[in-house]
Amino acid sequence: MDVTLNNDLKALNNLLQEALDEGLLYLNDIDNLPTSVSVKDTEGTGLPMVGQGGASTLAEFKKRYSDLMVSSTGPRYFGFVTGGATPAALMGDILATIYDQNTQTTKGHGDVSAIVEFEAIHMLLDFFGLPKEEYLGGFVTGATMSNFTCLGVARQWLGKEKGIDVAKNGVSGDFKILSAVPHSSSIKALSMLGLGSSNIIKIDTVDPLREAIDIDKLEKEIMALEGTPFILISSGGTVNTVDFDDMQAIANLRKKYNFWWHVDAAFGGFAALSPGYAHLLKGWEDADSITIDAHKWLNVPYENAFFFVREEHKMLQVETFQNSNAPYLGDPMENFNYLNFLPENSRRFRALPAWFTLKAYGKQGYREIVERNIRLARQLGDFIVNSEFFELLAPVRLNTVCFTLKDGLDPHRTQAFLDALNDRGKVFMTPTVYNGRKGVRAALVNWRTSEMDIRIVEDEMLIAVNKIATVWF
Ligand SMILES: *Cc1c(COP(=O)(O)O)cnc(C)c1O
Repeated sequence: MDVTLNNDLKALNNLLQEALDEGLLYLNDIDNLPTSVSVKDTEGTGLPMVGQGGASTLAEFKKRYSDLMVSSTGPRYFGFVTGGATPAALMGDILATIYDQNTQTTKGHGDVSAIVEFEAIHMLLDFFGLPKEEYLGGFVTGATMSNFTCLGVARQWLGKEKGIDVAKNGVSGDFKILSAVPHSSSIKALSMLGLGSSNIIKIDTVDPLREAIDIDKLEKEIMALEGTPFILISSGGTVNTVDFDDMQAIANLRKKYNFWWHVDAAFGGFAALSPGYAHLLKGWEDADSITIDAHKWLNVPYENAFFFVREEHKMLQVETFQNSNAPYLGDPMENFNYLNFLPENSRRFRALPAWFTLKAYGKQGYREIVERNIRLARQLGDFIVNSEFFELLAPVRLNTVCFTLKDGLDPHRTQAFLDALNDRGKVFMTPTVYNGRKGVRAALVNWRTSEMDIRIVEDEMLIAVNKIATVWF
């Protein structure tokens, strides 16, 4: 063994402790660390011929990079939809890395990690109030891959309806996909699946100011298809304004017409935990497939998401993802092998952080996080409504606040405000465009966020507005 490597083996306890201590320095200061930094030196130092060992590598990392880590896991990082990591999720994630299991099969290889994944999926179905016997599920790297997995099975279903085995013979002919406001990642999944991102038939929303699908127009389009089967991509929370398609109405349509119903509920699915908001999802338990992210509102470290696909479609799923050209023999559940059900073959023990955090905090613990985030988003919304500088672009429907500067018809002014806000490093938000107007979006999904954070954010917004005032007023 290389001498340096051998020395590191002997020093393993110390090295891991040092890395953990470095991580804890970050976590214990998370409230004060900047939400954005400017990186100037991007020149690397290159590959060494002779290695320096773990301790000296950590020292180099600390010197060059650790001060540049933004507090994206902290309580005021409202950009995109960025979750943090609960204490138990971190415990599970660290152990998943250390155990380094290749999570593939629940039987045959003495590998319990797949059984833990099975258990985690069952807990999650319970968590979201979905019928446990009716769905299969698995973990993938993010909601993009979850959408890809679900739409991959949908593609196989649609092919079969047309007499084509797409998995074997490739895509041919015309595949109809209907949606009102699909997330960009579903469009990307359609590209990756060879279904073509421009083949979406766009259905109008119920109102130009909403992002929920117009059910009457959807039914009209379905009737115009005259029985042609299709895929419907519906939104269980759009990313901009967290609008929900009417799940119950779609469930009713599904009883009348032949289509695959996919629900992208990457973060909106968590509305199921709150009695005040669960009605937004009512009916989704009839969907063929559902996408939910774990690295957003479940507050598990990246890269973590899962899919649920109806059990009755398991043969379609195996046809799509099987890692073997041999015809499938027997019941795929006999020896449940994840590599035949999803895109990855070798896979990390991705279920463990979810398993830990679900066991540690339970449904009630998560209900509190979800309801607190919603309450604080509403509080920020009220501040905006009552402010002389800002106005909401859309009502606060759940956990996302979409706003702009009052009379902010000049998009440059909105951008200047956002830059001034983000540059101060106390809060991070992202730009958006809604209904033709440039705006700012804040999405609250972090388990740490408190009332105090919202007060800090309100102060920061006023400071940023004042900062640009000299230029713009
Ligand atoms: C975030 C998000 C995605 C994509 O998720 P990744 O985890 O970034 O792959 C898909 N759909 C919706 C609604 C989302 O909010």
